Amino acid sequence: MKEYFELSNGVKIPSLGFGSWQSPEGAVTEEAIRLALVNGYRHIDAAAIYGNEVSVGKGIKASKVDRKDIFITSKLWNDEHGYESTMKAFEKTISDLQVDYLDLYLIHWPNPKKFRDCYVEKNIETWRAFEQLYKDGKVKAIGVSNFFPHHIEEMLPSIEIMPMVNQIEFHPSCLKIDTIEYCKKNNIVVEGYSPLANGKVFKVVELKAIAEKYNKKVSQLVIRWCLQKDVLPLPKSVTPERIKENLEVFDFEISEEDMKFIDNITTCEGSYNSEHPDEMDF
Ligand code: NAP
Repeated sequence: MKEYFELSNGVKIPSLGFGSWQSPEGAVTEEAIRLALVNGYRHIDAAAIYGNEVSVGKGIKASKVDRKDIFITSKLWNDEHGYESTMKAFEKTISDLQVDYLDLYLIHWPNPKKFRDCYVEKNIETWRAFEQLYKDGKVKAIGVSNFFPHHIEEMLPSIEIMPMVNQIEFHPSCLKIDTIEYCKKNNIVVEGYSPLANGKVFKVVELKAIAEKYNKKVSQLVIRWCLQKDVLPLPKSVTPERIKENLEVFDFEISEEDMKFIDNITTCEGSYNSEHPDEMDF
């Protein structure tokens, strides 16, 4: 199992990330991030809208792990699409995180409600700012999140640099086959958010039975399944034993037969599973 995913520009991302959505601003998040890094995660997934980037930054500092050894991602929120507003939002994010560059910056959603009548132009304008930040060395890589192939295709005639990453919801029952196929064809690394379906995987009895076969927890089985699908998982937890448990996924291999069985599970709905990014209410 590979330790890193390599982006089209040669940048390497540690193949297991640590999520921070729904981690409350304050001591809980600070400690979760610190513990994650102390336990061995080297990839933190943050976003301005999570409202906790100051605590994420404090956790990073408290871990005493060297900044250069940590891969830090953040995301531009929906209200900020546009060139100048992106530049401003970026400055706030790095100031909150207390860093002077990001490893990866993502457009969080392709079609915010606020810009629905001009979202393509806004994505292009935003991407121009992303390209500038990249050329200025303020971000090591740039990408998108929740983009369907058509959102990327619509930008292509007007952009210089192809997105390097697409972060999408990915877990059993949410396979996003068309988007993944498009990304692979275009050398875009796929990151899987909500790999535990925001906790819903624990209700699927079939997953429990398979996990027991490997002497593993359901969380470990699903994270490993994600890796074997060549999607970079971003599990989140604020619970010390779970933070550790979710890292222990590199010492077993799921058989082809069990992989297929997990692929066919349909009872594990996710957070945005049924919603379309062109119809979101935010
Ligand atoms: P997730 O990782 O699928 O699930 C997190 C939930 O599972 C939490 O309730 C957590 O509880 C629980 N959990 C974690 N490990 C566990 C274990 N070993 N055993 C039992 N329960 C466990 O959820 P997610 O937060 O939805 O997604 C992960 C990350 O992806 C986010 O944090 C964020 O960074 C990113 N994300 C991105 C987007 C986007 O639009 N780009 C959207 C959603 C998420 P505790 O925390 O209480 O332990």
